[in-house]
Amino acid sequence: MVSAVAYSTGHRAWGRVHRFAHRVVRPTSPHDARRALAAREGAPVLAFGLGRSYGDCCLNPEGLLLETRGLDRLLAFDGESGVVHCEAGASLADLLATVVGRPAPDGGVWFLPVSPGTRFVTIGGAIANDVHGKNHETAGSFGRYLVDFRLLRSDGRILRCAPDENPELFCATIGGLGLTGLVLEARLRLVSVPGLWLELEEVRFEDLEGFFRLAEESKEWTYTVAWVDCLARGRALGRGIFGRARHLRDPRPVPAPAPPRLRVPFDPPFSPLNRFSLQLFNALLFRRLGRGGRRHRVRPYHELLYPLDSIGAWNRLYGARGFYQYQCVVPREGAFRAIARLLDAIAASGQGSFLAVLKTMGDLPSPGWLSFPMPGATLALDFPNRGEATLALFDRLDRIVLDAGGRLYPAKDGRMPAPVFRAGYPRWPRFAELKDPVFSSAFWRRVAEGATEPARARAA
Ligand SMILES: Cc1cc2nc3c(=O)[nH]c(=O)nc-3n(C[C@H](O)[C@H](O)[C@H](O)COP(=O)(O)OP(=O)(O)OC[C@H]3O[C@@H](n4cnc5c(N)ncnc54)[C@H](O)[C@@H]3O)c2cc1C
Repeated sequence: MVSAVAYSTGHRAWGRVHRFAHRVVRPTSPHDARRALAAREGAPVLAFGLGRSYGDCCLNPEGLLLETRGLDRLLAFDGESGVVHCEAGASLADLLATVVGRPAPDGGVWFLPVSPGTRFVTIGGAIANDVHGKNHETAGSFGRYLVDFRLLRSDGRILRCAPDENPELFCATIGGLGLTGLVLEARLRLVSVPGLWLELEEVRFEDLEGFFRLAEESKEWTYTVAWVDCLARGRALGRGIFGRARHLRDPRPVPAPAPPRLRVPFDPPFSPLNRFSLQLFNALLFRRLGRGGRRHRVRPYHELLYPLDSIGAWNRLYGARGFYQYQCVVPREGAFRAIARLLDAIAASGQGSFLAVLKTMGDLPSPGWLSFPMPGATLALDFPNRGEATLALFDRLDRIVLDAGGRLYPAKDGRMPAPVFRAGYPRWPRFAELKDPVFSSAFWRRVAEGATEPARARAA
């Protein structure tokens, strides 16, 4: 018996800009998923995890969505090797609540090798976007820690994919945006860390040079990230706060993450995140380190790695029109100039964002053909959706990114034009040969098949 098919008019991604109709099935076993595929009646298919992608890589308008949260079983954990085997709908939060923190043979504790800025992502979603974390310099991206996974193709075959078996599908699926089939289960290598408490140092920097200097000086730290005041210009361009952290050898258990402090249960009629409130917020944040410009603390890992998880549904704060995130990476050589140009263009536009995050990325390569990270610097900003004005700014930013030889992150994107994708991901034609013919998304139809971005289509 296949799980019931529901018709949904309201599936949205995290940015809430687009709302598309879908047919939705929530399989609870591989057999169930196979049956759902067989009964798709010609519709394109896509997996949907926890919908934490910001744009349209997790949406499949008028198609079938396979919601994976019914496939969330923990299948095995080997406390000697740290390999965890689970279904692909299990989330990082599920692993943190079960296997993370268990003792490792070297005296440390097992921990996630890579974490994005939220723990509410599924293993399937983490593979499909080959997610990275604040430790990209020291750990690389998620795909590096996969032992293998099982992939259901639309013809009903279930293939084991690993470096030594179906290696091309392995590389295509890591960062493959859910387009090579449905990942059913995976084996992931955890890493041993000294403990679950982190030593955190925050240091104020006065300009972009200060950021790059601190990044260079912080190679001994496991996690690094900076908040940048993206409204500052002139000599203050690129000022901000640099955070660096590392695990302490401290056997004390950490308190469980508190339930979300604030929920945003409805769409405010206008976004409270206007230019004035952003200026105030940025100025307060910038000054909070006081005269010395430096603060040292010890905090449980979740406070540092997942700061936004303590605010329920914060994505509603941007109002009914939703928001875009723009995340790019530019190569190390020329990164200073490119980031300065991007920040200047954003400040000049007056569309400054609530969260402007800047960090460096390291050299550890990913097996994924379409993996986003590259050695260099990545900048990520949220923008309330103001229609054509916001899209026109993004076009200007795209030119700076492409000039620098960089690319945009599909997990955060809901509008990148096809030429921007193709320039940033030159291996995409090879990937397209291995894509499953039945799997598709709004993102793919735009970047590979020439469909128009919906906001642009409405404006035209
Ligand atoms: C607050 C916040 C902070 C974030 N910070 C970071 C960050 O620091 N670094 C980073 O890299 N990302 C970050 N992200 C993005 C997030 O990590 C990715 O978008 C992730 O892929 C979301 O996982 P999900 O389970 O919600 O998948 P969805 O968003 O539901 O889907 C994402 C993609 O995965 C595919 N997919 C899902 N499950 C499967 C499966 N079983 N088989 C095949 N394909 C599948 C979907 O088809 C889709 O293409 C952040 C997101 C938020 C909301």
